[in-house]
Amino acid sequence: MATYTPMIQQYLDIKAHYPDAFLFFRLGDFYEMFFDDAVKASQELEITLTSRDGGAEERIPMCGVPYHSAQGYIEQLIEKGYKVAICEQVEDPKTAKGVVRREVVQLITPGTLMEGKQLLEKENNYLATVTAFDDGTYGFAYADLSTGESRVALLSSWEDVINELYAIGAKELVISPDFSQTCCQSLKERYDMTLSYEESTALPEGFLSVVQTLGQDKLKTAFARLLNYLVRTQKRSLDHLQPAQVYHVNQYMKIDVYSKRNLELTETIRTKGRKGSLLWLLDETVTAMGGRLLKQWLDRPLLDKRVIEWRFHMVETLLNQYFERQELRALLREVYDLERLAGRVAYGNVNARDFIQLKKSLLQIPSLKEVVGRLVHEEAGYLADKLDPCTELVDLLERSIQDHPPLSVKEGNIIKDGYNETLDRFRDASRNGKTWIAQLESQERELTGIKSLKIGYNRVFGYYIEVTKANLHLLPEGRYERKQTLANAERFVTRELKEKEALILEAEEKSMELEYELFVQIREQVKQFIPRLQALAKTISELDVLQSFATVSEERRYVRPRFSSDRELFVRAGRHPVVEKVLGTQTYVPNDCLMNAERELLLITGPNMSGKSTYMRQIALTAIMAQIGCFVPADEAVLPIFDQVFTRIGAADDLVSGQSTFMVEMLEARNAIVHATQNSLILFDEIGRGTSTYDGMALAQAMIEYIHDHIGAKTLFSTHYHELTVLEQALPRLKNVHVSAIEENGKVVFLHKIEDGPADRSYGIHVAELAELPPSLIERAKAILAQLEQPSETKSASFEQLSLFAEKEERPKEKEHPLSKKEKEAIRLLQSLNLLDMTPLQALNQLYEIQKMLK
Ligand code: ADP
Repeated sequence: MATYTPMIQQYLDIKAHYPDAFLFFRLGDFYEMFFDDAVKASQELEITLTSRDGGAEERIPMCGVPYHSAQGYIEQLIEKGYKVAICEQVEDPKTAKGVVRREVVQLITPGTLMEGKQLLEKENNYLATVTAFDDGTYGFAYADLSTGESRVALLSSWEDVINELYAIGAKELVISPDFSQTCCQSLKERYDMTLSYEESTALPEGFLSVVQTLGQDKLKTAFARLLNYLVRTQKRSLDHLQPAQVYHVNQYMKIDVYSKRNLELTETIRTKGRKGSLLWLLDETVTAMGGRLLKQWLDRPLLDKRVIEWRFHMVETLLNQYFERQELRALLREVYDLERLAGRVAYGNVNARDFIQLKKSLLQIPSLKEVVGRLVHEEAGYLADKLDPCTELVDLLERSIQDHPPLSVKEGNIIKDGYNETLDRFRDASRNGKTWIAQLESQERELTGIKSLKIGYNRVFGYYIEVTKANLHLLPEGRYERKQTLANAERFVTRELKEKEALILEAEEKSMELEYELFVQIREQVKQFIPRLQALAKTISELDVLQSFATVSEERRYVRPRFSSDRELFVRAGRHPVVEKVLGTQTYVPNDCLMNAERELLLITGPNMSGKSTYMRQIALTAIMAQIGCFVPADEAVLPIFDQVFTRIGAADDLVSGQSTFMVEMLEARNAIVHATQNSLILFDEIGRGTSTYDGMALAQAMIEYIHDHIGAKTLFSTHYHELTVLEQALPRLKNVHVSAIEENGKVVFLHKIEDGPADRSYGIHVAELAELPPSLIERAKAILAQLEQPSETKSASFEQLSLFAEKEERPKEKEHPLSKKEKEAIRLLQSLNLLDMTPLQALNQLYEIQKMLK
């Protein structure tokens, strides 16, 4: 092994403990990286790669970032899914013997961010952990370190784990080092998940109160792994972690990963952005906390009717009381992110400006209480009581923190006069000194008779007396000591001035130190309020989400849905919330939907681009909106409570995960067919499209039959296989509906209106016409269509042969005789004739030829 210098040896020793992180090794004013870290970081961060002598023969690759601008670089690496270990000098280099002692003080990872641009205001940043148990179940826990919330659940399958990871948008997953390699691989490749390892599942000291709520040992084990990881990597106070909440996935409407994506609940398929998603539409929250809670609600629609009705009731109240709602919004706007603030208080990275914001936020609470109390709602009083104004905390902050403190907590100007006597004394000394100096100017002017004499200050020379060159001769001898010469002036000091200056500087230094000490004390006092602030944050975020629902519902004329007890679904004049918003209310055509015991499956036919998938989605979105407690886009809505929603919509190629489109289609279909119950909602859009016609049609029909006969879930099935519409006669609970279109001047006009019955024909050619394909091509297609639509024995296999009738009715069979080679050739020739490009004479000639062949 090479012999390295002691410092490089120290680096290597530390790095050995953090093989999967960039080690930011503090060297003076820089964080340096060496070896492979340096090579990789120089590429990722686009910084210069240099090298240094490390004692061995070969020079060591090195690159570094200045300490002061490190934050930006760290964020860049975290954004790319890397981890960064911050290694500081932990003893004073001046007094150190040999190499300065260094230690890693924090491991920053995507799932443990506490600050920075990536910590989006309206989004949680979750770190998750999964523990596999021998009985095939999984303990799943997650926490947002920035807000201190955490939840734990026991899951029964790996599929559930994936669903949960996606639902919460976990940024990082902590697992045991011996976790299944296959699972790790798929997490990394399919979901681009940052993985971290933690072996210990023993409860770390000091966290009893956090796990008290957890009954089962499995939950404790799972959660302890998360805690151990946090303790090991963060190495600081985690006092803001709230007691872990247990949850059960079956308390919520289940929407699998695919369906969440397809329905564009929180991001669109195309841009992966928030804009255009349901979340974007619903988000009229005015606080960051409310924004995060809205996303949580949307990720987990409820099943409990009472809770949903409670939310409806609140939304209705807020919708009706316009003025109170506006006041509420105005007050909430002034409320700062209390949850994340509590996190920073515990973590120790809060500053005095945060405290001012905290105070201002808390000062809104009495008015908020008053407004909430005015709501005509039986729980108004209870809700108002829950708004805790934390008066003692406001009082403390009011007494202690100045109104406009600087960002830095170490440079003074934070603490108010009168808060601490010693500080007041230092300040007096410094202020008196400054007053004395200010007076000195006029005294000196009088003494010397120099009107332009000035007293000034600079960092290098301190206080000085400045006299222009022209006036120098007026200065008395001896009293003034020359300090600095400028182009047209000289600067002097006097003994007295130096003495005062020393006093001022000493007082300032001491007061700065004391201010920091006081600030830390105040921070510790604020810490005591963390649980109260977190409880307040909860109530505020709920109010915010509810007012957001009311605001959107009023603006977009949504109605309060009712829940049916017989699984009936009836929507009058329903709309797709996002499409309606984008197209405008004038353009959007509302549609009804009725699904009950006789109409469990709706088979939707109609031309392409006529609005089939929009219609299907709008039913699902309506159900989801209702179950998160929001009003719905319709004139009237009666809905069952759906336990699960499944979709197979659109061509969401899963290229990243290396699945072919058709495979994804089948996986999604399987997911629905295996898990749906009669209380579920299934949307199948153009199933079977990704394969050959008969193959696809056969699959589609088999799926419909299976759902009809074995599941009984409410199903919307759109198809371009017109032939499937005959199923209505065989399946009693299936009904045909279609999107109507009319022809105007030979062109198709989509009415976007859903009507009972099957669509009468395919409008594909008209769509092609709209797309301006060449006229001769369109004519040819029309001719082919006409040919195909004629009942013909030459069609290789008619749909009837595939359909149910084939099994149920014995059709009289015509005598079949196999076609001869000549006959087949004649048919082929007939089919290939391009009649439109032929004169009648040419056609007659061809016909003659063909007939001759057959004679
Ligand atoms: P399909 O599934 O039948 O191919 P889509 O549902 O994708 O059709 O709808 C195609 C387009 O038609 C949408 O992008 C939308 O702009 C418009 N559209 C759909 N439904 C409506 C409606 N009810 N009112 C107005 N425009 C609609």
